Amino acid sequence: MSRTPLAIANWKMNTDLETARVLAQAARETLDGEPIAVEIAICPPFPWIVPVAGVLEGSAVGLGAQDCSPEPNGAFTGDVSAAMLSPWCAWVLVGHSERRHGHGERDALIRRKLEAVLKEGMQPILCVGELEADRDAGRTAEVVQHQVLAALKGLPASAIARCVVAYEPVWAIGTGRTATAGDAQEVAAQIRALLTSLASEHAAAVRILYGGSVKAGNVASLTAGPDVDGALVGGASLDPAGFAELCRALARPAAA
Ligand code: PEP
Repeated sequence: MSRTPLAIANWKMNTDLETARVLAQAARETLDGEPIAVEIAICPPFPWIVPVAGVLEGSAVGLGAQDCSPEPNGAFTGDVSAAMLSPWCAWVLVGHSERRHGHGERDALIRRKLEAVLKEGMQPILCVGELEADRDAGRTAEVVQHQVLAALKGLPASAIARCVVAYEPVWAIGTGRTATAGDAQEVAAQIRALLTSLASEHAAAVRILYGGSVKAGNVASLTAGPDVDGALVGGASLDPAGFAELCRALARPAAA
């Protein structure tokens, strides 16, 4: 099964409007200028989604959001529904560690957000990963299994087929530390086995990303494992030249 490598840029709460436009234009030139075998999507802060959509119009670069409400509409001050995002976005991050651990988002809420994204025809990027204390206690596989099953178990196989799963060890996000390539592949293989148990006919097609201090210089080795299909990139996605280099390093010939 060949899976197109995928690079997701998570700008978090960074960039002003002009910087957002410059970064989006650079991503567009990377992908549209000289076609490379990689898919790219950008997740800007909410207010920049519409202007960035303007910059990306007609481009192969995709657009995503960093979060969404589980609710369809109503008295939810400050929230943004999946339906509000769907005219602009093809992707939505769900369960990012900064939401799980910074905003106390629990499994049940993440599941509802994921279902809201699917309902509106977008693709959820489900983020999972262990805290450093979990890894030190040998609980990585247990934590990842719990998070994957809580988000996906019981969904129709056709819905699971539309998901991307990002393995992001929490201790590696924004720290400059990374998992080893072996650890990234080991957890990705575990996630693929879980997907197989949930949706056997689609598991081989689902993309599994690694995230956590990925940059141009380490992306090739961190995604070298057969089950690691790309990267979720925070800090390094804010440097236009570095992100372009990262995307080129991620591109690889489709498997036979
Ligand atoms: C992220 O935002 O998901 C992330 C992995 O950030 P960073 O690349 O900065 O570690």
